[in-house]
Amino acid sequence: MLALVKAATGPGLELRDMPAPEVGINDVLIRVAKAGICGTDLHIEAWDAWAERSIEPPLVIGHEFVGHVVEVGSNVSDFVIGDLVSGEGHVVCGRCRHCLAGRRHLCAHSIGLGVGRAGAFAELVALPMTNVWHHWPGIDEEVAAIFDPFGNAVHTALRFDVLGEDVLICGAGPIGLMATAVVRHAGARHVVVSEPNPYRRSLAERMGATRVVDPGRDELAVVQHELGMVEGFDVVLEMSGHPGAIRGAIAAMAHGGKLAQLGIPSGEVNLDLDAVIFKMLTISGIYGREMYETWYKMSVMLQSGLDIRPAITHRFAFRDHALAFETARSGDSGKVLLDWSL
Ligand code: NAD
Ligand code: ZN
Repeated sequence: MLALVKAATGPGLELRDMPAPEVGINDVLIRVAKAGICGTDLHIEAWDAWAERSIEPPLVIGHEFVGHVVEVGSNVSDFVIGDLVSGEGHVVCGRCRHCLAGRRHLCAHSIGLGVGRAGAFAELVALPMTNVWHHWPGIDEEVAAIFDPFGNAVHTALRFDVLGEDVLICGAGPIGLMATAVVRHAGARHVVVSEPNPYRRSLAERMGATRVVDPGRDELAVVQHELGMVEGFDVVLEMSGHPGAIRGAIAAMAHGGKLAQLGIPSGEVNLDLDAVIFKMLTISGIYGREMYETWYKMSVMLQSGLDIRPAITHRFAFRDHALAFETARSGDSGKVLLDWSL
């Protein structure tokens, strides 16, 4: 099969012929139709310090995808050839305290698809059946392809109650864009999105932001005043990982405010803990998706009118992967898809 491979240490990716994945008795083999490019894939392509620590070449990369089942292991009874499915990219141990208690998103031993095992930027990908999600009837195939980052957005956006609340979203990358639509759908009052890139600010407006702000130019206090907010933001979804954004968000939060931290900073971040203490703020780290409550919520919200399609801005054939990666890296894009069905 053809696959996009980190062939050796150092920058770059190669489209090459690879053996098809082995299908164990509990596994499902999927023919990939569409895949999404994630920041993780950009890190692996560029070979930064994180990639050097985390990746062992040769590795087929990629973890956001949709495809059709083509083969199942002998233990698998609830998937049949032709089913439209996506994969949860965290393959958990199944045996630790949290896994046994059904809190699989807290497994400390999870292995990442396209990071610790062969990924989905390929004609075929294999996963244990417990990592495969059946899509519900009527799903848009492009939306199905990005259930992984959509799940990050939903997990973060629903971490705290947003009904009637004023929400600040830092960072309008693909995940911040989808989260904007989710908190709108979930009944937030004001949704202010902070993002330096003008292309992404205009996409955030399309996703339903009440106001977009440029963190380099606009004061959050002024925006709050203009919107008639008496106190600060009730809920913050931090989706940039930028230290200045995190500090600015904490300063702009109301007493009793809640911050869900999804964005991954590149190093340590200094925080004003006095503000956290005296405003009695709650900060929650968010990792991955809840298995499979987040997947259920995504499916339900799509059926009840949530539309995340404007967050998908570019589509490329897999052979044009270099251009696709360049587009994703430019920042002048939302979610970038690779078509593997050609
Ligand atoms: P992205 O890099 O495309 O988006 C981040 C956005 O933040 C960019 O548009 C950037 O312009 C913006 N930004 C930079 N400085 C800012 C500032 N000071 N204020 C506001 N915005 C600023 O990433 P993405 O794919 O949308 O993912 C969002 C974040 O979530 C990233 O940090 C990513 O690493 C992280 N992530 C975490 C998990 C997890 O499980 N915790 C999973 C996926 C992604
Ligand atoms: Zn576990």
